[in-house]
Amino acid sequence: MRRSLFEDVHEDFRASFRTFLQREVIGEQGRYGQWERDGLVPREVFALAARGGFLAMAVPEEYGGAGAQDFRLNLVIGEECQRAGVGSFGLGVTLHNDICLPYFLSYCDESQRERWLPGIVSGELITALAMTEPGIGSDLAAMSTSARRQSSGDGGGEHYLVNGAKTFITNGINADLVILAAKTDPSERHRGISLMVIERGMEGFERSRKLEKIGQHAQDTAELSFHDVRVPVENLLGREGEGFRYLVSNLPQERLSIAAAVAAAEAALDWTLDYVRERHAFGQPIGSFQASRFTLAEVQSEVQVARVYVDRCAQALNAGELTPEDAAVAKWWCTELQGRVVDRCLQLHGGYGYMVEYPIARAYVDARVTRIYGGANEIMKEIVGRSLGL
Ligand SMILES: Cc1cc2nc3c(=O)[nH]c(=O)nc-3n(C[C@H](O)[C@H](O)[C@H](O)COP(=O)(O)OP(=O)(O)OC[C@H]3O[C@@H](n4cnc5c(N)ncnc54)[C@H](O)[C@@H]3O)c2cc1C
Repeated sequence: MRRSLFEDVHEDFRASFRTFLQREVIGEQGRYGQWERDGLVPREVFALAARGGFLAMAVPEEYGGAGAQDFRLNLVIGEECQRAGVGSFGLGVTLHNDICLPYFLSYCDESQRERWLPGIVSGELITALAMTEPGIGSDLAAMSTSARRQSSGDGGGEHYLVNGAKTFITNGINADLVILAAKTDPSERHRGISLMVIERGMEGFERSRKLEKIGQHAQDTAELSFHDVRVPVENLLGREGEGFRYLVSNLPQERLSIAAAVAAAEAALDWTLDYVRERHAFGQPIGSFQASRFTLAEVQSEVQVARVYVDRCAQALNAGELTPEDAAVAKWWCTELQGRVVDRCLQLHGGYGYMVEYPIARAYVDARVTRIYGGANEIMKEIVGRSLGL
């Protein structure tokens, strides 16, 4: 079914991002395989992406951005990374653009905007969002990282004294600005949470460990720890005690960004169609067996139906109308679809599907986490279920 979501400007953007991926990430200068082995995308790649206009497009022009408040551009980046089989590079960029940036745009005061937005656009300031802790993930209100407000005692104003640990943090090693969710009032649950920005180099802020994962290998997922970190009150985002509300209000965009998993399913289908046309068994292309045709017909149908829903959600987001429930539907449905599709497509690759040199093998391991992060799919179903009055 022909997509009606994009206009010429998005297709031009897509073409130039595709060129960037080919030059800097995959071929010629690109060393994606090396980044997967290193567990890290070099920082300078963010700056190169910025030079091409692919970072923080929504930042207003006065701070160096393009002023393009259009989530379709963000979707193009996610889709093209999946198509090129470099999803774990894409994750760091989409985290920066789709998930972290909205907090800076919505909750920074003027002086914070001047301090941070230009670097976020230029790629000098890479961002991360730290909510999950070793002891809690889904139940965020039970977090224990604390931020006690106190006077500096030297006439230097007030600061928060931050203690605790966060884990599974995307961009954790590369990040210069970490949006930290911490309890400023430990006696409260949701209303005790505030957001503040931890900057690279703050004393007591350590990146404890880069985590070894089954997939998303180029992603520098890390543990962060905070020991008596003095965070100036000027780094508070928005108002104290409002952090949970801010997190919730950004979730529809975060979840739609993950639901772009449907692009990973589309990519898997394309690679598989190519493969089953070329590979022969019993004197015929394996795609010509009825079992293969039926599998791929089912995959094609499921992917197309999901694609229409995601595109509709993107329109709703741009119009400011995407509800948390609709975004939760998109997130759980598309990520489960992604899991099913990559599994079935890998099967059609036979033994080659198990070899990491084939993109379907990487897509398979990369896919598993999308059902877990951004809110586990069970939490998505809770959101949808409650909206039914249950
Ligand atoms: C690669 C990766 C990147 C990540 N990036 C980030 C990041 O950048 N920032 C960040 O803050 N976090 C990040 N996370 C953390 C992620 O968001 C959490 O792992 C996720 O929210 C689940 O939390 P948990 O792991 O503590 O699981 P738990 O909360 O312990 O839940 C475990 C399982 O229990 C079940 N469950 C839990 N609660 C319920 C319930 N109410 N009803 C039914 N079933 C339930 C679900 O099956 C769930 O999967 C990342 C995780 C991974 C693996």
